[in-house]
Amino acid sequence: MSSLLIENLVIVGSGPAGYTAAIYAARANIKPLLITGFEKGGISGGQLMTTTFVENFPGFPNGIMGPELMDLIKAQALRWGTSLIEEDAEEIDLGQHPFFIKTSTQAIKSQSLIIATGASANKLNLPNEKFFWSKGISACAICDGATPQFRNEELAVVGGGDSACEEAVYLTKYGSHVHLLVRSAQLRASAAMADRVLVNPQITIHYETELIDIEGDVWLKTLKIRNNVSNTIQSINVKGLFYAIGHTPNTDLINHQIETNSNGYIITKPGRPETSLEGVFAAGDVADSEWRQGVTAAGSGCKAALAAERWLSKNNLTSLIKRSPLEPATSKAQNIITTTEKDFQSDSIWQKGSYALRKLYHESTIPLLVIYTSSNCGPCHVLKPQIKRVLEELEGKAQAVEIDIEIDQEIAKQAGVNGTPTIQLFLLKELKHQWKGVKQRSEFKNVISKLIQN
Ligand code: NDP
Repeated sequence: MSSLLIENLVIVGSGPAGYTAAIYAARANIKPLLITGFEKGGISGGQLMTTTFVENFPGFPNGIMGPELMDLIKAQALRWGTSLIEEDAEEIDLGQHPFFIKTSTQAIKSQSLIIATGASANKLNLPNEKFFWSKGISACAICDGATPQFRNEELAVVGGGDSACEEAVYLTKYGSHVHLLVRSAQLRASAAMADRVLVNPQITIHYETELIDIEGDVWLKTLKIRNNVSNTIQSINVKGLFYAIGHTPNTDLINHQIETNSNGYIITKPGRPETSLEGVFAAGDVADSEWRQGVTAAGSGCKAALAAERWLSKNNLTSLIKRSPLEPATSKAQNIITTTEKDFQSDSIWQKGSYALRKLYHESTIPLLVIYTSSNCGPCHVLKPQIKRVLEELEGKAQAVEIDIEIDQEIAKQAGVNGTPTIQLFLLKELKHQWKGVKQRSEFKNVISKLIQN
């Protein structure tokens, strides 16, 4: 381990707190290394990756989609020279200095550390929950709501906070009716959000109601719910169940090496990012059980980076980089527009839409990835750059078509797609492999490479 390079600053976490810390640290020329996380704390990019319109982040008067906002914050951090490791941090040892961090493939030493690991969605842990997970149950209405199985069907959301209300309203776009199961006698959501639920005739609120069992065959069919006042049990038939019951801070990695409160949140100096250990700073929801907003997380990331920079400098621990040229290149927009007959290219590695799919499905002689996405799906935003990188590394020996399941519903239905992202790999019209959700880049690359070699 003694031969490891020592980083100035490692940031663990890729929500608004982590990336904002990275922007400030990178602009201070201390070349931060950011470990994005992969699946341990939920999706990388944090909770904004699973939300729709963010209407309260300053600078976006008409609102912005959560995943799009995260794409922009990430692009800003990368533009200024942040290095990324797109893996989970698996171990953090704060008992030695420089601190030691291990990911699935790398060992890292760092003079300072910002923990911005956020909080993860809670589950109910009901007996059949595992079985029906992704077969009707989801923790992300925004990602999965548009899938064909939920169209014009009755759906349910558990929870009474802003997330539950936002998801219930969102699901009325797709389902015929939404049942909101609230365990207490009132909604906890903000008045503006609660009002949208209360005036929506497509939502029925079941107050003081607990979900006690989930039933079905190959797909979820029935929920057993109990009213805790009358103590009556009722069955409701739904095809989709969405959890929105709060979050737990991701502090497993810290494992009591710094102070946390009784709910697991990291304790920092009041109003400041310093933790109980010198050189270790905390930012975002992992240290904030109260405000938990994108903008407060970003603000705390800024504070953590400035505090880390000052601490490194005071202790003579910084090794500054020289920036050349001084101005970084402009960040490129990543949007891909739907391919038409006019701009279709048979050898392009990434195209979008039904026209490109029809052409390539029949004509492509190399491995073809069909990537099913939806516009609001946060994991899709994580996945697409990963797969693009794999295809670039494979130098045109495989190609991809992206299908937005909201635009091309029939194609998604025929392909049996029941969640996004779903990735199907074809060779000469034959389905060779299917993935659901985000996977490591190496997994995609290995499977595609084997097909290329055969
Ligand atoms: P919250 O912690 O605010 O709400 C959790 C909800 O789930 C509560 O209604 C709670 O009930 C209920 N709940 C918890 N555990 C259970 C359980 N075991 N069974 C049934 N119900 C349960 O979480 P949110 O994710 O909604 O919000 C987190 C933060 O993010 C908040 O600060 C919120 O304002 C913010 N947010 C803002 C949004 C926006 O502005 N667009 C969108 C989404 C979130 P009870 O009330 O009885 O405790």
